[in-house]
Amino acid sequence: LQDHLDDHAFSFSPNITLKKLPHLSDYLQDLQPAGPNPLDHNPFFHPSDGFYVNKSDIVLRQVACRLSPSETIASPSHHLAYIRAGPRKQIFFDHCATRAAIVTCGGLCPGMNTVIRELVVGLWDLYGVRQIYGIKAGYRGFYSIHPIELNPKMVHNWHGRGGTVLETSRGGFDLTKIVDAIENHGFNQVYIIGGDGTMRGAVKIFEEVRRRKLKVGVTGIPKTVDNDVGIIDRSFGFQTAVEMAEQAIHAAHVEAESAVNGIGLVKLMGRSTGHIALHATLSSRDVDCCLIPETEFYLEGKGGLLEFLEQRLKERGHAVVVVAEGAGQDLIPRTTAQKEERDESGNMVFLDVGAWLKTELKKWWDREHPHELFTVKYIDPTYMIRAVPANATDNLYCTLVAHSAIHGLMAGYTGFVTGPINANHAYIPLADVAQAKNEVNIKDHKWEWVRSITNQPDFVKSNQNSV
Ligand code: ATP
Ligand code: MG
Repeated sequence: LQDHLDDHAFSFSPNITLKKLPHLSDYLQDLQPAGPNPLDHNPFFHPSDGFYVNKSDIVLRQVACRLSPSETIASPSHHLAYIRAGPRKQIFFDHCATRAAIVTCGGLCPGMNTVIRELVVGLWDLYGVRQIYGIKAGYRGFYSIHPIELNPKMVHNWHGRGGTVLETSRGGFDLTKIVDAIENHGFNQVYIIGGDGTMRGAVKIFEEVRRRKLKVGVTGIPKTVDNDVGIIDRSFGFQTAVEMAEQAIHAAHVEAESAVNGIGLVKLMGRSTGHIALHATLSSRDVDCCLIPETEFYLEGKGGLLEFLEQRLKERGHAVVVVAEGAGQDLIPRTTAQKEERDESGNMVFLDVGAWLKTELKKWWDREHPHELFTVKYIDPTYMIRAVPANATDNLYCTLVAHSAIHGLMAGYTGFVTGPINANHAYIPLADVAQAKNEVNIKDHKWEWVRSITNQPDFVKSNQNSV
């Protein structure tokens, strides 16, 4: 590489498309900056060259490239870039006139309280904002519950607590009532913490705010323990979840090893993606088979799960199976009522793949080996994992993401999400994040690594062979 640099033989000139971010000035023609960033005069900061991020600071979506024989970049030939997150020299909100609202929606995830705490402390300490409000119980709280006033003293120890002190809920999304409430309470910054459904709601709020030409900045902070949000490297809570999942796998392994023909079965979170199952499998090394939504599996016949487990029990006397909650949903028989069942937010209700697998394994053993001992210990750590406080890595992540969100809104950007892309925090249009999915790529080396350490069957291939 040094030779390349010295000889200047390496030419880097990709085409770059910069994802434009909405700004309040796009629709508020008379909007003027409120002034220089108050961080200039903050006694705890010493802004030097490079402290502030400027308009031309970007983050490239893809950093791994392929060189052509002439050592120019062959693929991708086109690069997507996002605006870099961070404090700006000029801000568009005066601290006295800023009135911020924070809301949490959807399921629990480690780190929610840390994000809330850091939003409050960041707004207060970095920008001198004193009007900060918590919206209780999710989107419905905007129009049905009086907001609560937040300050650093009140939230100082929230990062040590699991769940969300603001409370959360599903459903209750009424766009007109929510935006009316934002107007009536005089909020001009709205911080929305939630999963994919919440982000779709945040896009609608942003669009309605823009339609009404309100000076209200809207930002989304993706909360998904499953790590299923696209574009960003990862979401907060994921690392904590993997750490906890590994403990559940360890317990299942102990149970399986301590029984005659013991199977430890662990169901992990992941409705549409198997990132937690994959990462916990790779880090624990005790897993014999990892089942995720991105790949099909089947029980009976050649190359099926039962044949594989029979072999493992013969060889080792025990086995551990990890299954993500979205795996095998099409294998589980559903009643008509179950097919139509939806939660309050309108999401399909997933059936318990772990409980179903446990029953199927028992039926199989009783049928094939009626006189031999057999044990299945089923562990579902879902609610335990969701409820714990964030670990150190996730807590740091939450702090960075909260501060980036504040800097972005203060700079007048709106309709964006903040998150790390190739380890650099960037601002991404909300609408892009609401659509993007992060699925496990079963064609890349990580999934091959899972298959090589478990030696589990490649259900897809075996399935095709048998057709
Ligand atoms: P998770 O699934 O990770 O727990 P989520 O944000 O996806 O989090 P949901 O219950 O699906 O959780 O949605 C949270 C909130 O967002 C609910 O109040 C729901 O009404 C609202 N919401 C969901 N989908 C939409 C949508 N398409 N448009 C507007 N609001 C939505
Ligand atoms: Mg969701």
